[in-house]
Amino acid sequence: MNATLNRHHVVVVGAGFGGLETVRALAGAPVRITIVDRRNHHLFQPLLYQVATASLAPSEIAWPIRHLLRKRREVTTVLASVEAVDKAARLVRLDDGSMLAYDTLVLATGARHAYFGHDDWEPSAPGLKTLEDATTIRGRILIAFERAEQEPDETKRAALMTFVIVGAGPTGVELAGTIAELARATLPADFRNIDTGKARIVLIEAGPRVLPAFRPDLSAYAQRSLERLGVEVELGEAVTECTAEGVVYGDKTLAAATVIWAAGVQASPAAQWLDAPADRAGRLKVEPDLTVPGHPEIFAIGDSAIVARPDGRPVPGIAPAAKQEGAYVAKAIRARLGGQPAPPFRYQHAGDLATIGKRRAVIDFGWIKLRGAIAWWLWGFAHIYFLIGVRNRLSVALNWLWIYARDQRSARLITQGGGRGGRPEQT
Ligand SMILES: Cc1cc2nc3c(=O)[nH]c(=O)nc-3n(C[C@H](O)[C@H](O)[C@H](O)COP(=O)(O)OP(=O)(O)OC[C@H]3O[C@@H](n4cnc5c(N)ncnc54)[C@H](O)[C@@H]3O)c2cc1C
Repeated sequence: MNATLNRHHVVVVGAGFGGLETVRALAGAPVRITIVDRRNHHLFQPLLYQVATASLAPSEIAWPIRHLLRKRREVTTVLASVEAVDKAARLVRLDDGSMLAYDTLVLATGARHAYFGHDDWEPSAPGLKTLEDATTIRGRILIAFERAEQEPDETKRAALMTFVIVGAGPTGVELAGTIAELARATLPADFRNIDTGKARIVLIEAGPRVLPAFRPDLSAYAQRSLERLGVEVELGEAVTECTAEGVVYGDKTLAAATVIWAAGVQASPAAQWLDAPADRAGRLKVEPDLTVPGHPEIFAIGDSAIVARPDGRPVPGIAPAAKQEGAYVAKAIRARLGGQPAPPFRYQHAGDLATIGKRRAVIDFGWIKLRGAIAWWLWGFAHIYFLIGVRNRLSVALNWLWIYARDQRSARLITQGGGRGGRPEQT
């Protein structure tokens, strides 16, 4: 026990893709590890939109961190929020005021959505980052249909049956396609006074095309597929106002009871804790070995950091990048403890994936691009493979097959307030 206590202490903040991979890849290294997260679960964010659209239950895409690490005797899990870092004293301050000493610190605290200086839009247009966000959005979508069913006024009913998604990156596209299927295929038989199939789903994007990170032909295919599902795609117009009544974009005003924000990212305040250089999105600018300038004992990885590839383009803020960085940091710590220098981090881009509803997807591997049903099946297998645990893989696969064959989405629950006429409570 004492031998373990004397070991080099690695504190990992954040048990997302990056932090958890660091801990995983440090197995067997001569260190003791403390992993701190303000939530008790690791979340598979790429499938959050499926919780938001009633396709999957929260427990199918999240796992208790403590349970995931139960076999690692050298790892201690702490449920707490980090509030500050004292670089000089090598201490992390937790929200209960206690201090945690480290020899090596790994900051993997991720990012959240950003409203480009309009944080007051958040109550009207929630973003999607946590399980609470997903169940809030799910509640709003389902309540909008419930209220429309009871609404005698045609104008108000039209607003209730209008769903706006702001931002046409993968999350916006996936949300729009799935809400369209929910409205057109899953819900119609359940309602008596409204035709849910007539719901308007409007995807607004400031840029010139959907899925801007993909090649133009895949973007065009994604747009056509969305339009085939009945999604209205509005390009080249930034949203300039967002209220409980709807949105304003360009010179248009659109009345909508449900607005979902899928644009913009703001990194966690890790750079502020360290008073370190950051980009406009708050991502900490790290050295090629992912350390904080002037502090080789502090690493920052994943969405909370930014590092350039050899060609100058930044490493993207996606799960595989965070995992590769986590694995790299573990290797670098091992190398250092063995007295060896660590080579710079090299990112390998596997590809970009996005789905449009339950039958189409686009995949850009660089050397080959795929679209349509084959891409959708590949996307599905890849995501099931990356889920943790056999039970969740089986459960998600069964749910998807059920949706594929019967259009039934079993997680259609309003769980956060939202009584008669109300919106679900914010959490
Ligand atoms: C809706 C959505 C869909 C996405 N879809 C895809 C996709 O299809 N493919 C893909 O590759 N990527 C996708 N991403 C991006 C991907 O999820 C992120 O790039 C990845 O999660 C980054 O990993 P990370 O470890 O940096 O941060 P995260 O996974 O976000 O983990 C950060 C962790 O830090 C914890 N934390 C934050 N602040 C503190 C604090 N102060 N104290 C303690 N703990 C803290 C958080 O609770 C969290 O557990 C998606 C993201 C979202 C939001």
